[in-house]
Amino acid sequence: MARILIVEDEAALSDLVRSHLEKEGHAVEQAFDGRQALAAADRARPDLVILDWMLPGLDGLEVCQELRRKHLMPILMLTARGEVADRVTGLQVGADDYLGKPFSIVELAARVASLLRRVALDSAAASSDSTQPLAFGPLVLDPAGHRATLAGSALDLSKREMDLLELLLQHPGRTFSREFLLERLWGSDFDGLDRAVDTQMVRLRRKLGDVGGCIETVWGIGYRFRPELAQT
Ligand code: CA
Repeated sequence: MARILIVEDEAALSDLVRSHLEKEGHAVEQAFDGRQALAAADRARPDLVILDWMLPGLDGLEVCQELRRKHLMPILMLTARGEVADRVTGLQVGADDYLGKPFSIVELAARVASLLRRVALDSAAASSDSTQPLAFGPLVLDPAGHRATLAGSALDLSKREMDLLELLLQHPGRTFSREFLLERLWGSDFDGLDRAVDTQMVRLRRKLGDVGGCIETVWGIGYRFRPELAQT
């Protein structure tokens, strides 16, 4: 069972999705515009958000961007626009998956299940198995020893660079906002600038050399690790 927030202004469609997901045993909450969605996300801390692109007031992209500043839950975007450029924009602002309208409810439920599985695997990897080395192409992280190697050579990383790399590699594909990273790496009492995170990231990428591009900038939000880009 997961807590799912549906953000969709068409009430009939929202109700249909809700009843289907509830039959699958999920707890579902509905928001009908962007402001409601942001408030509901802060209050209810859903495990997953289904977010329509076309909303009154704040549109889905703005909501996605706002959600990403604070939250790590997967976001599945719904869109009637099928343009590739739109999909790219959505993924760049931190959506995890896409479904074009009209969609079949079975397809939606399958995407939801797949995203929830990913999160479950994610947190399992981060908690129980966090001592196992993780290998992505030439890049290998040994969380137990707090060290990383690139093509067999130890990387000379500062504590913060190491913490940053561990966090990203232990959550492949997840988008971390600058605010989140700042708080996580420097602590909430640090009155610093988001730029501190960027500076750290520049150094880390430089040390990763050819595979530095596997840490992708998510426009307007922060960063995410793309394991497939480390395989080269
Ligand atoms: Ca809509």
